Amino acid sequence: MSTYKVAIVGAGPAGYFAAQALQNLQTDDLQFSIDMIERLPTPWGLVRSGVAPDHPKIKTVSKVFEKVATAGNFRLFAGVELGTDISIEQLKEMYDAVVIATGSALGKKLGIPGEDLPGSLSAAEFVPWYNAHPDFHDIDISLDCDTAVVIGAGNVAMDVARMLALEPSELDPTDTADHAISAFKKSSIRKVVISARRGPEYAAFTSPELRELPKLEYTNVLMNQAEIAAAIERAGDDPEKDVRSNLDAMLLISEKEATHHDRTMKFQFLATPIEIKGAGKVEEVVFTTSAGEEKVIKCGLVITAIGYEADPLAGITYEKGKVLNVDGRVSENLYVVGWAKRGPSGVIGTNKSDAADVMNLLVADLKEPKPETELTSLITTNKVISQSHWQSINAAEIAAGEPHGKPRIKAVSREELLRLGGLN
Ligand code: NAP
Repeated sequence: MSTYKVAIVGAGPAGYFAAQALQNLQTDDLQFSIDMIERLPTPWGLVRSGVAPDHPKIKTVSKVFEKVATAGNFRLFAGVELGTDISIEQLKEMYDAVVIATGSALGKKLGIPGEDLPGSLSAAEFVPWYNAHPDFHDIDISLDCDTAVVIGAGNVAMDVARMLALEPSELDPTDTADHAISAFKKSSIRKVVISARRGPEYAAFTSPELRELPKLEYTNVLMNQAEIAAAIERAGDDPEKDVRSNLDAMLLISEKEATHHDRTMKFQFLATPIEIKGAGKVEEVVFTTSAGEEKVIKCGLVITAIGYEADPLAGITYEKGKVLNVDGRVSENLYVVGWAKRGPSGVIGTNKSDAADVMNLLVADLKEPKPETELTSLITTNKVISQSHWQSINAAEIAAGEPHGKPRIKAVSREELLRLGGLN
């Protein structure tokens, strides 16, 4: 029997699905010993710091991750940063295979004047802020304005717009960061415009997300009926199934009568942002419409949700925001999975088949197992969070949430997370 050592860098969905695929590929003759390395003190990646807190069902996939983690051949090394605490070269030397699963952490930029004004930020900052990510809890978010503009027509833009437009008490029974709930409760924002550069027929929203919008109890969701009808006309008799389903969902939204609620989430299509203006902070966004006209929206907050790119790791080659790879192979004994491999697309489950395909290639490439060496002898930090430390953090967060009817209250600072894990 041969046992191969595999290091997976990044404890998000792609990393766990890669570990699961390796576990599924084990036979009496082929065994794996899996070490997962994660920069943050907590695992689960976007399931913890990306998925919108008012979508708790999506987070139940964490049960799968914990099953993988407790299967017996898996160790977690959280709080360990590649490039600082250990290098990719050291991992490649020591492990039979190394799998990069570090996702796409950086928000794409519009590249227009005024984008760096205070009050203009990326969903790559705003989303982890409301999700209690330790690196983003103290970023400056100005909610003391009447109107916010969200740029992009994907599900991240929709999450961001919904979080801003919800009645904040609706977030009380969720695991939204406490600091975000109290900021939303003080927020003056009553109007959120979600702006797409193309027509409704090209929007990247998915229809289950659109279909839940009319159910929002305290927010008017506004779409222009004539605009949706025109998109249906343009899409023709036989549009793709997803487009048809999206347009049907949008038509329902556009037909719904507005209520007396003062919170609105308004969709704008066919408007390309060309400039963000303001004296020392965001005051307006200038768009050009499909008719070539200029349109201005006065606002105090702009959030761009137009996609992501990978945050480069030292020693790895990137192209177009992704790790340069062929079907997940990067170089000898180095592989990549998830958004770092294919870019920021697909839902969490997409990573399952994607990681399984790459792990099949990894297994086909295996040679003689390398001699035993121990990762802990190389890691420079003495604050490694293991699976059992993480289980203590997890249990403490869940227990803290229970009296408040929340699934958990997330600890935010690294110090607090280490304390809950029994390391401080
Ligand atoms: P996305 O689905 O790729 O949407 C990006 C949007 O940004 C598109 O509408 C795109 O419009 C627009 N855009 C790109 N560049 C632009 C520019 N320069 N100016 C104006 N608009 C621009 O990306 P995402 O929303 O970040 O989501 C990433 C992935 O996560 C997606 O697969 C998404 O479905 C998934 N996700 C799923 C859920 C869920 O299931 N509930 C929640 C969140 C995210 P064009 O089409 O015109 O380029």
